Amino acid sequence: MLRIGYHLSVAGGLDLAFDRAVSLSSTAMQIFVSNPRGWQVRYPSAEIAERFARKRDKSGVEVCCHMPYLPNLGSANEQSLGKTLRSLSSNLEICSSLGIQYLVTHLGSHMGTGRGQGLRNVINALESTADSAKDVMILLENQAGHANSIGARLSDLLYIYDNCSMARKGKLGFCLDTCHLFAAGYDVRDEEVLDSIGSELGYGKVFAYHMNDAKFPLGSNRDRHENIGKGYIGAEGFRTMLGHRGIREKMLILETPYEALVPDGRDLAMLRELAGSNKE
Ligand SMILES: [Zn+2]
Ligand SMILES: [Zn+2]
Repeated sequence: MLRIGYHLSVAGGLDLAFDRAVSLSSTAMQIFVSNPRGWQVRYPSAEIAERFARKRDKSGVEVCCHMPYLPNLGSANEQSLGKTLRSLSSNLEICSSLGIQYLVTHLGSHMGTGRGQGLRNVINALESTADSAKDVMILLENQAGHANSIGARLSDLLYIYDNCSMARKGKLGFCLDTCHLFAAGYDVRDEEVLDSIGSELGYGKVFAYHMNDAKFPLGSNRDRHENIGKGYIGAEGFRTMLGHRGIREKMLILETPYEALVPDGRDLAMLRELAGSNKE
């Protein structure tokens, strides 16, 4: 069975995301557990955590969490780094209290200090929050490659992995975004490219995918998601990816645009159809 679903809203309460996931017949979802565009963090009460656990058990929907957008693991600025580390620690703690296994994070920007320095900053930031991780695994997400961003090249993700003690404790992995891969120049429509991604990174280290079509052509470095089949990756590109074992068997999360509180389900239906699993 495909483990697949959307990034969903938690408006009205964290547990309501499960109701939305169930209404879409999805088997996985991604959520934010703190304000995605702010620094504020609200720890869920015991009652909410209990309701969350109950709905998760009942629905069987697998959950991963995405970090808010403001933290920057690549920053060397003391003030911004301090806020980043507090945000990462609290997100890890919240995930742990809710029984969420994976926390997806961007690597941020080196802000002009250079790629090497940026990578070292990320490693230091991860090391200093390792104790908060407990049973939660941090998934480093690849980027589209806009100016100063860290993590568009898979070799950068691997460098961090190889130099971070969390990896050796089984607390670090990768989440690959298909739109970001494509924007960074990896032609995910091509099976040979998918194989080479696997031999470079090791698919065993990849625990989730963001399944997004790309609004701009290969190598554009632009992070603009498109609905499945409407972008430059296209339906056939997704069919190829979904036929690949390194992808098909992982948690698959759609972050494609939608207007309402709950998506209309078209992109999910399309991925299922392309995977040849709509009868499952
Ligand atoms: Zn992301
Ligand atoms: Zn993106």
